[in-house]
Amino acid sequence: MIDFDDLADDVLNGHRLTADEGLSILQATMAELPDLVSAGARIRRRHFGMSVKLNYLVNLKSGLCPENCNYCSQALGSSASILKYSWLKTDEAIDQAVVGINGGASRVCLVASGRGPGRRDIDRVTDIVNGLKTDHPEVEVCACLGILKDGQADRLREAGADAYNHNINTAESHHEAIVTTHTYADRTATIAKAKDAGLSPCSGLLIGVGESPEQMVEAVFALRELDSESIPINFLVPFDGTPMEGQWNLTPADCLKAVALVRFACPDKEVRLAGGREIHLRSMQAQALHLANSIFLGDYLTAEGQAAEDDLALIRDNGFSVLGHEPVAEDGELRSATLDAAVPPAIRQRGPGTTMAANA
Ligand code: SF4
Repeated sequence: MIDFDDLADDVLNGHRLTADEGLSILQATMAELPDLVSAGARIRRRHFGMSVKLNYLVNLKSGLCPENCNYCSQALGSSASILKYSWLKTDEAIDQAVVGINGGASRVCLVASGRGPGRRDIDRVTDIVNGLKTDHPEVEVCACLGILKDGQADRLREAGADAYNHNINTAESHHEAIVTTHTYADRTATIAKAKDAGLSPCSGLLIGVGESPEQMVEAVFALRELDSESIPINFLVPFDGTPMEGQWNLTPADCLKAVALVRFACPDKEVRLAGGREIHLRSMQAQALHLANSIFLGDYLTAEGQAAEDDLALIRDNGFSVLGHEPVAEDGELRSATLDAAVPPAIRQRGPGTTMAANA
């Protein structure tokens, strides 16, 4: 049995996680999970303290995508009943982004469905980036527009964008099982273009799409090789109307171990809990925050997230603080937050002394 504390010491001393060690993390038993989280939390604290970075998604264009990613509710063949709309106007996009900034987000992610942007699309997005950077120079802007053609990353960078997101999602050896209209190499080429243009590469995972543990390790090590500076971890939400409908294969512990794997393999990278975290991590969200140092605030591209105030309570109640905002919550602050949230207890009307069934 592997000692996760020793492994964390090794990683903190510069050891590169091996595939066998990665598999051991994914094979941790329920009884070993607390030790795994505690060990991974030491790595997280070394690099990020107790801060949590908030990111805010603005879906600039939703649905109607010609690609066939079989996990995606926005693909053309999907009959998921999501919002579908074409490009937001510049001021609409900026107004949406400001909602997230006012909620504490230090990065705004401008996302559009589609295989990749055309020239006019880049014009649209550079206008939005310009506007945001003029009014909020302190906020990072990340674009996520699909496969980039030569020169497009440079235009985004010149407009002031800080980062570009393009997830590899899964291992190269599993890529064709989730999409066939573009290749794994198309994805990595776009990440390279973004990096060459001076944009911070953001690329991450989608877990729960039928990958094996070995393939999960393969994908995480690929992100390490790509030097992805921020790594969103999405957990499959199998929308009805997509080919993955009904594929609810993840447990909260599976998700927690995947987050731990990324933290151990990429110790100093931003690890972000992304789409599906509430549904899949459930009561383990707080434990995951001891491994990840970043979340999306509020809603996702096509699914609603938990209420933003619940995100902030999750951070505060567990002693974390929002990056760029107040320091780690102290007792007094937690007590006053409890008072703010206080609601009178519901008087029991069921169980002993009543004719109603007990709550069990
Ligand atoms: S390219 Fe993006 S928006 Fe289009 S189907 Fe794939 S994941 Fe969905």
